[in-house]
Amino acid sequence: MGSVDGQFSVGLVKSLLTKNLGLQGLYIPTRCKWIPRKCNMFIWRLGMDKLATMDALKKRNIDNGDQTCVLCGEEDESVIHLFTSCYIASSLWSIISSWCKIPPIMAFSVKDLLETHENIGLKGRKKEVIQGIIRIGCWCIWKARNEARYNNIPVSLAGIIRELKSVGFYIMLRIKTPKSLRAKRELEKRAPKLVELGKKTLILHGTKTSNTLNAVLTEIYHLKKDNAVKYSRRNDNIRPFESGGETSLEFYSLKTDCSLFVYGSHSKKRPDNLVIGRTYDHHIYDLVEIGVENFKSMSSCPYDKKLAPLIGSKPFFAFIGEGFENVEELKHLKEVLLDLYRGQVVSNLNLAGLDRVYVCTAVSSNKVLFTHCALRLKKSGTVVPRVELVEVGPSMDLVVRRHRLPNEGQKKEAHKVPHELIKKKEKNVSKDAIAGKIGKIYVPDQQVGSASLPFTPKGVKRERREAKAKGEDNKHAEKKQKQNGDASA
Ligand SMILES: [Zn+2]
Repeated sequence: MGSVDGQFSVGLVKSLLTKNLGLQGLYIPTRCKWIPRKCNMFIWRLGMDKLATMDALKKRNIDNGDQTCVLCGEEDESVIHLFTSCYIASSLWSIISSWCKIPPIMAFSVKDLLETHENIGLKGRKKEVIQGIIRIGCWCIWKARNEARYNNIPVSLAGIIRELKSVGFYIMLRIKTPKSLRAKRELEKRAPKLVELGKKTLILHGTKTSNTLNAVLTEIYHLKKDNAVKYSRRNDNIRPFESGGETSLEFYSLKTDCSLFVYGSHSKKRPDNLVIGRTYDHHIYDLVEIGVENFKSMSSCPYDKKLAPLIGSKPFFAFIGEGFENVEELKHLKEVLLDLYRGQVVSNLNLAGLDRVYVCTAVSSNKVLFTHCALRLKKSGTVVPRVELVEVGPSMDLVVRRHRLPNEGQKKEAHKVPHELIKKKEKNVSKDAIAGKIGKIYVPDQQVGSASLPFTPKGVKRERREAKAKGEDNKHAEKKQKQNGDASA
């Protein structure tokens, strides 16, 4: 166990162990720090040949029927086939090689595949990125295989690539080292925070829009100017509610760091259509589709400009109507609207800064009258002023067309509270509206009997004193007395 100078070192033992494992024909992939931990675990199992493929299961006498590969349906399933020779895998690798502009990936074993990045003449960051992408590719193939085999979901190469790109792009963002101070600040701004700032809104439109819709989008942008991004070009490949039509929306959400979006489109079937949605971790979380009717712009509302609400002031929201309590669509709309106009959460407010209110009135199970009003405070003769509403626009009727609630898994994930923010229960402290903070203090038993006193009786032998205090050892005392008696006699 010695190096040249005969010293013991942990590194040497480690290298000795891996050398031995290498002799046994095992390959242990090195850890890649850019990819998710789950993915690293998977790659480790793949390298050690521990995946539960059909042939591996058969070796262990677990035979569950069909042995053919679910991806291509041509050959028997094995690790080598799944990740190297299968039609789906080889197409994925060739797409990756053209996408990353690297020589074609040629692999005849898992080791070849996982070590590709070493053998194509790459250096530094790019090498690490290729390593990560190939590993995530393997992971996506395995996930697609499991979905197909156990949940009967048909395999699609496009689906695998989409997943690869979404995970891969996430890595790129993490790998990116800022080259300028400005880029560094930007990345820091986007990093996850314990307490998130106000949500940013992305405003964009589809292939066709109408005049009304353009005005609606512009005015929403005006109302949210401090925290919104507006795209003025048309977007042909965004189709919310359709599979595959949300990928570029998710990409834009990531690019602009917006977690809310308002998407406008106009068609014969759905005129003046507005889709308001939220994203979580830059994946679509939920969607509400509404039609806009009777739109009234800000400029068409005549009012005293002195009353105009200030930019960035906090709005009131008034939801009128039972529908907001018991109709699923309206409940969802209410939630999304509140999120859209909420802005940054603050702990205290100056009442004088409250100068506007959004009034939403549910008139039927899917129709809401939406009005933006300024608050006008008038003398009432008492301390509380009389409040009047002045319509400042925009006002419109919102007709809910379709909506999609988040799925349970996503909802659970989104509602997670970071460990640091969970308040610990404070023991023995309670609060009272009148007395304020009340604390309880535990005082242990005072043990008055054994407390030392300033005056200790003198002339008594300590032994006897202690015996008296204990109330026992009487026999011992008697014995002593007897002994004393004998001596005197
Ligand atoms: Zn296959």
